[in-house]
Amino acid sequence: MSAPLALKTHGLSKRFGDFLAVDAVNLEVVSGDIHALIGPNGAGKSTFFNLLTKFHLPSAGQIVFEGQDITALVPAAIARLGVVRSFQISAIFPAMTALENVRVALQSRAGIVFQFWRSKAVLSQFTERARELLAEVGLLPQAEQLASSLPYGQRRALELATTLAMEPRLLLLDEPTQGMGAEDVARTADLIRRVAKNRTVLMVEHNMGVVSRIADRISVLQRGRLIASGSYDEVSRQPAVLEAYLGHRGQRV
Ligand code: ADP
Ligand code: MG
Repeated sequence: MSAPLALKTHGLSKRFGDFLAVDAVNLEVVSGDIHALIGPNGAGKSTFFNLLTKFHLPSAGQIVFEGQDITALVPAAIARLGVVRSFQISAIFPAMTALENVRVALQSRAGIVFQFWRSKAVLSQFTERARELLAEVGLLPQAEQLASSLPYGQRRALELATTLAMEPRLLLLDEPTQGMGAEDVARTADLIRRVAKNRTVLMVEHNMGVVSRIADRISVLQRGRLIASGSYDEVSRQPAVLEAYLGHRGQRV
């Protein structure tokens, strides 16, 4: 029996005018996997993510999440099912503490209007869950610090905690280690592996050290097309992949 799929796309395409940014992509992401999406700049990786969350409307094709066709759903409905994107824009309120940031995310997920729900019981429930999420990303010691006072790596971890507050089942990470020094890159890779324990992760990542270390499977996009999908060893041996990379950035995959 084959492993259950968290995500399956059929012929998923996005056209901007005459330009096909995502070209008939059939991608399968196994439940529980960390799946890396790689490819040269401009290959269509971020556009593909934007199709999954319906930030962009697909020009053609289908998106199936946990066996359900979600192609026609609105973004809020997709988020409610647990397809959630992180590391796209900074969603952090700098003048709030780390704990308050996560609590606000939990409250907005619950759809609670703050003014009407000042009951201590409700608020302390959120506080408890917020502390759990901070602990999950290793930020519990910084709970009472202002977000603005946190170093870059910890702010990104806080962003991840606010995303986890959305209860993702499929977590989409677009270049989570971008702009980080070696130490933060290693820490972030460990963190992704930790939060992936009971979730599926699809991540765009350029750092091949991170990809080879934490990804269960890898898919390669080139000019909007899926040119390879498989384990790191399988994918990195394919001539089309080597060509796409050597042609573009002179690095071996
Ligand atoms: P990647 O994330 O792989 O670097 P993108 O998905 O950002 O690539 O972009 C893929 C291609 O689609 C690029 O050529 C980009 O210029 C183009 N593109 C992305 N978004 C738009 C848009 N909103 N309108 C027109 N072209 C776009
Ligand atoms: Mg991109």
